[in-house]
Amino acid sequence: MRHFPIFLDLRDRLVVVVGGGPIAERKIALVSQSGARIRIVAPALTHALSAARDSGGLEHVAREFEPADVDGARLVIAATSDLTVNRAVAMAADRRGIVVNVVDDLELSTGILPAIVDRSPIIVAVSTGGTAPALARRIRARIETVVDESVGRFAAFAAAWRGRIRAAIPDLSARRRFYDWLVDGPVAGLVRHARMEAASELLAGELARGEAAGGGDPAGSVALVGAGPGDPGLLTLNALRALQGADVVLHDRLVSREVLALARREADLVEVGKSGQGHSVAQAAINELMLEHVRAGRRVVRLKGGDPFVFGRGGEELQFLRAHGVRYEVVPGVTAALACGAYAGIPLTHRDHSGSVRFVTAHCRESLDATDWRGLAAARETLAVYMGVAMLPVLRTELLRHGRAPLTPVAFVENGSRPEQRVLVGTLDDVEALAAREQVGSPALLIVGEVAALAEDLHWFGAAPVVARRLADPDRDAA
Ligand code: SAH
Repeated sequence: MRHFPIFLDLRDRLVVVVGGGPIAERKIALVSQSGARIRIVAPALTHALSAARDSGGLEHVAREFEPADVDGARLVIAATSDLTVNRAVAMAADRRGIVVNVVDDLELSTGILPAIVDRSPIIVAVSTGGTAPALARRIRARIETVVDESVGRFAAFAAAWRGRIRAAIPDLSARRRFYDWLVDGPVAGLVRHARMEAASELLAGELARGEAAGGGDPAGSVALVGAGPGDPGLLTLNALRALQGADVVLHDRLVSREVLALARREADLVEVGKSGQGHSVAQAAINELMLEHVRAGRRVVRLKGGDPFVFGRGGEELQFLRAHGVRYEVVPGVTAALACGAYAGIPLTHRDHSGSVRFVTAHCRESLDATDWRGLAAARETLAVYMGVAMLPVLRTELLRHGRAPLTPVAFVENGSRPEQRVLVGTLDDVEALAAREQVGSPALLIVGEVAALAEDLHWFGAAPVVARRLADPDRDAA
């Protein structure tokens, strides 16, 4: 580690900047956020800098640099384009034991200015040791997305409660667990949504409960989280936060390994089946498992493929949690229909081909029998059929019988958004034959409608679609 990071308190301390051009202006804008007194040494100033001087914001020494200018400074910044001057500044500062940063000159600098994420009072500073400032800015941008604006609000909130928390939970390790809960749990969620009163209420309630129970651990909670279709890039930031704060993750089999890899390293990962077919832990057992972990004070993430409220039984799980007084939150995910459409180049609606889209499932015969086939068979409508592969014969027969055109394009999207994605395009008439011939596996989504044919032109991800036979021109078909 060549450069040791340290955060300086520069309030009312002297910072000397040599140079009056645009670079000096940028550095001054940065440093003045610290409340430092700024002295600028330069024969001439930019327009903005002279305005700042005129309004009393900084002291201006209007001449060439002299070594005594840095006397009494905590930090010196050389921002001239003249190497001789920069060298003189560096030498003058170093001789007096003052940290000096020479812009764009690592060798002359004894200190470098990092890229900063300012979520005061939280400050994150990124340095590449002066080797690649562009990279530091990229890293900063990434941190900015994860450490959002609300974190500063949260830090201030936690600071205001510190004394009361300390008084209520004298035991150090219990307090540490409480803080973990505070940072990762529902209170932080409320603060993120700027619901400060609700956050205070919840925190106060939890402290009182803990005191009454003789310093017991805070209650657990459940986040019902949509994991999206597979590509981890489709997770929401809220899903990522929940995963990184989890003690235990109860996940469906559909959830991809790449997504699971984003969970907190200490979290227990438990597969609870629900693949749509084959082995799965019964719903009642999943419910009991959630309850058991919550009662042990854990932060449970119930992670489901796609979106938890689209054919995911998320509603039933919430009803169970509600009935047992368990606190929960819901994080939506990108559902298979949206992801498969996007990654196959199939717009689910299109002004020329389809005016609406329906998400339907053909999971069991009962639900099919009760289906409004006439509505489903309407032309110029897109159907996104979940769990449909097993029910193809019924689906095909009924749609045709209720008037959907035999040449209506269809597309299977298998493993949508995953590296092994396959897209198979055919027609409603021979949808069964297509599935059999190409051995469509699980998970796969079936898209029925004129838009399905667009995959041939618009695909962009993974292997090109397999097109079973030349499709009728969708424009002519619709006319
Ligand atoms: N809650 C999920 C759906 C669960 S039902 C969601 O919102 O996506 C399971 C069905 O979803 C599968 O049978 C399949 O039809 C579809 N599915 C889920 N992930 C998929 C993927 N990556 N590619 C294609 N279909 C998928």
